Amino acid sequence: MNLPTSYRHHPFETKCSGCDALIVWFRTETGKRMPVNAETTKPTDAAHQLDLSRHVSHFSTCPAADQFRRARK
Ligand SMILES: [Zn+2]
Repeated sequence: MNLPTSYRHHPFETKCSGCDALIVWFRTETGKRMPVNAETTKPTDAAHQLDLSRHVSHFSTCPAADQFRRARK
């Protein structure tokens, strides 16, 4: 399997809009989207493979988490 090499932790990593951390969006079992700190992911993790025994939700570490929790109007 060939993966792009331009990523640091995960091919689908992106920057958090609240801080500059690298995150990867995963889908929870209930269909919600959750940002995970990219350094806790493996490059081969698929979006539906959220594993909270290993992945750390960026909600819990983001200094700007309030921006996420506040509903967009
Ligand atoms: Zn953040």
